[in-house]
Amino acid sequence: MNIHEYQSREMLQTFGIPVPPGILVQNPVAAEKAFDELQKRYGSAVCVVKAQVHAGGRGKGGGVKLVKSAEEARKAANDILSKPLITPQTPPEGVPVTKLLVAAGVEIEKEYYLAITVDRVTACPVLIASSEGGMDIEEVAKTNPEAIIREPISAVAGLRAYQARKIAYFLGFKGKQVRMAGKIMHQLADLFLKNDANLAEINPLVVTKATDEHPDGTVIALDAKLNFDENAMFRQDDVRSFEDPTEEEPAERRAKQFGLSYIKLDGNIGCLVNGAGLAMSTMDIIKLHGGEPANFLDVGGSASEEAVTEAFRIILGDETVKGILVNIFGGIAKCDTIAKAIITAAKEVGFKVPLVVRLEGTNVEIARKLLEEAKGDIPMMEIGKDLTDAAKKITAHIAA
Ligand code: ADP
Ligand code: MG
Repeated sequence: MNIHEYQSREMLQTFGIPVPPGILVQNPVAAEKAFDELQKRYGSAVCVVKAQVHAGGRGKGGGVKLVKSAEEARKAANDILSKPLITPQTPPEGVPVTKLLVAAGVEIEKEYYLAITVDRVTACPVLIASSEGGMDIEEVAKTNPEAIIREPISAVAGLRAYQARKIAYFLGFKGKQVRMAGKIMHQLADLFLKNDANLAEINPLVVTKATDEHPDGTVIALDAKLNFDENAMFRQDDVRSFEDPTEEEPAERRAKQFGLSYIKLDGNIGCLVNGAGLAMSTMDIIKLHGGEPANFLDVGGSASEEAVTEAFRIILGDETVKGILVNIFGGIAKCDTIAKAIITAAKEVGFKVPLVVRLEGTNVEIARKLLEEAKGDIPMMEIGKDLTDAAKKITAHIAA
C-alpha cells in the first residue's frame, strides 16, 4: 500500500526525522497563501510546489517547481493542477493531480539517497544508501553500483550503532553530520519495522549549506516514499487511515471490495482462477502456448456467486481482453457456484469475446450440466477438457 508524500512526511516527523515545513493545498489561491504563510512563519524566500500523487519521478515530469514569490506559487500550482502528470513511473497518459504540497525551499549542499526495503534473498530488511542521491538514483544503480552501500538490518534488534556509523562514513558525512545522519538512519529503521513497511525511502536526504549557526549544515529529508505490507494492515490502523482509494486502479479497487485479488497485466487473455498458485500456473500455461495474460484474478477459496459475477464484470469491462480463460479447481469453492456466475455474467454483461472454461473438483458434474443447459445462451463458450486443452483453445482464438 502506497501513501502520499505529505502523509509520509507526517510519519517521518512522528519518528523525529526533520523535514522542511509544508502546507497541503488543493487550488492555486491556497498555494499563493501557503507561500506567504511559510515566508511569514519561517522566513522562507523560496518554496517548492509539489504534486501529490503516488508515482515517483515527479521532478523529471514537471511535478516539482521551485518558486520565489506567492505569485509564482499560484502560477506553478495552476500549471501542475491543470493537466495529468506524466513521469517515468506513471502510465503514458499520466495521472490526475488534485493535491499539492507547498514546502519551504532548502539550500542544498549535497543530495543523498537513503532507503530501507526487504531483501528477498536474505529475507531480512536492508538499508540502501548512496552519496549520489537525487533524481538519477536509478541511473547510479545501473552505471555506478559501487556508489551504493547495502547493509542488512536485524528485524529484532534493529539497526546497530556501528552500522549507522559505517554507513555515515561511507557516504562521506563529516563532523556533526555523522551524528545527524546516524540518528535519521535509526529513526527510519524504527519507522520501517514498527509500521510493517515494505519500503521507506528518503530521496533526497540532503545536507544544507553551511551557516554560522550550523557550520556543518544540517541533515534533512526533502522527499519521502513509504510503502506498506497489505497483509499487515489489520494491525496498522494509523497506516490504513492514510489509504487513498482514488490513487488505485479503479478495477483493482472494485475487486478489493469483493475480496478478489486482481492485478491488471499487459496481455489480452483474461484469466479467472481460484487460488494464487493456480493463477500462476494458469498464466504460465497461457504463455507456454504463446498467449499473454491480461490480468491475474484470484476469486479465492470461498468466493460467493456475487463476487465471481463481479469478477467477470471486471474482466469484461477491460477493453484489452480479447479472450477469457476460466480455470477452476473446486475445493471449498464449488464448481457450480462458478457456473452460475458465468450464466449470470452472460445475461448481465454478455460475452463478446471467446470464453474457454475448465472446471474440475467439487460439484463439477452439477456445474457441467448447468453450463450444458445454458450453452445456447452463451455461444462464445467452449469447454476445455483439461488445462492444456483449455489453454490451446483460448490462445488459438487470439492468434486467429
Ligand atoms: P521526485 O522524487 O518525485 O522527483 P522530489 O521531492 O525528490 O520529487 O523532488 C525532486 C528534486 O527537487 C529533489 O531532488 C530536490 O533537488 C528538489 N527539492 C525537493 N524538495 C525541495 C525543497 N524543499 N527545497 C529545495 N529543493 C527541493
Ligand atoms: Mg525524490
